[in-house]
Amino acid sequence: MKSQFSFNRCLQLLSVLALTLPGSAAFAQDQPLLISAARVFDGYTLRTDAAVLISEGKVARIDGREAFNDSGAPRLDLGDATLLPGFIELHAHLSYQHVPADTVLRHGVTTVRDVGGPLHQPYGGDGSLRLMTSGPILTAPAGYPIPNLGETDIAMPVADAQQARQAVRKLVAGGAVVIKVALEPGGEAGAPWSGGHAHAQHAHSKMHDKPHSWPMLSPVVLAAIVDEAHQLGRRVAAHLAESKGAQLALDVGIDEWAHTPCETLPDAQLHRAVAQQVRIVSTIDTLSKCSGVSSNVRRLAELGAEFLYGAEIAHPDIPWGIDGQELLYLQHLAGMTPLDVIRIATSNAGQYLNIPLLGTLLPGAPADMIAVKGDPMQKLKLLEYPDLVMSGGKLIINYFGS
Ligand SMILES: [Zn+2]
Repeated sequence: MKSQFSFNRCLQLLSVLALTLPGSAAFAQDQPLLISAARVFDGYTLRTDAAVLISEGKVARIDGREAFNDSGAPRLDLGDATLLPGFIELHAHLSYQHVPADTVLRHGVTTVRDVGGPLHQPYGGDGSLRLMTSGPILTAPAGYPIPNLGETDIAMPVADAQQARQAVRKLVAGGAVVIKVALEPGGEAGAPWSGGHAHAQHAHSKMHDKPHSWPMLSPVVLAAIVDEAHQLGRRVAAHLAESKGAQLALDVGIDEWAHTPCETLPDAQLHRAVAQQVRIVSTIDTLSKCSGVSSNVRRLAELGAEFLYGAEIAHPDIPWGIDGQELLYLQHLAGMTPLDVIRIATSNAGQYLNIPLLGTLLPGAPADMIAVKGDPMQKLKLLEYPDLVMSGGKLIINYFGS
């Protein structure tokens, strides 16, 4: 209880500090606020000497700093800093692994999509982490991840097409924003789930044998899932890591690969994925010990694939916030500019989630934003340590002026 008390006390102190400008009164959280910085990334382009007016939890206006000279709103001038939308993490397991949402928010991720774990309606975004989920992963009876994690609320086995359709309807009714399926025969060297262990740190000990052939959903069941999900306006994301799973996913029209595949895929499959406009959630960092991740990322990028940012928060090797290493992998392996990397983790992801203006700082956008001292275009790693975080217009942390 003592630690809980001091944690709360600490939060109170932080919020008082966060709202206080040197030599001025504290901001009231419900009043308009003008934040200016040397660089402002609006989700699409980088502006210099710009300012963002926040009112009623949303961005009211973005413009050059001097355009606001007659604005009566209290000002927070960040100086030589960069203001940008909060990051959107598209592959996480916060609820299942009990990762504290507040910690993730304080480290710059303002929206998380859990893909595997307890089902709930989307919530948050008003000073707390915006959290949405797929609910449990649909899989074959005894299919992955059941061998690793058991029949907990991370997996829901479906035996036939009828059960599959019922499961999709139940998930969507319960709040699932996407349907996740597992297409995993097991045994890929270097993958966190290989070796039959639930924990990645043990995976290396058994990764050289390939004893598994976990059951996978049949094409018929998978097609039923995709059809039912699409009828209900949901995409289907697949956990896949090698060519058998990829082939199934391509044949039934899976919309999203929840990972860059662990093993090197045949070039024809990569071509087909790009032709079918499959979105690929990166998760390169946590799969960096896989043999084929680097080559798949390079080849997919050459072919023009659309990547989305996801680091797999809750895996033991991934920070609880923005993963600077993931950003660096995207920059160096996928050949993206830092601006492109930030774009896929902000405005592209907001569009993909179909939440209007999420991931931008354009008028009407939810006022979810972060700021770092300096220029992350020169050093993406800075983003792992935000100096200001705002969610729905509420300041969560603010280390400026201190
Ligand atoms: Zn996962």
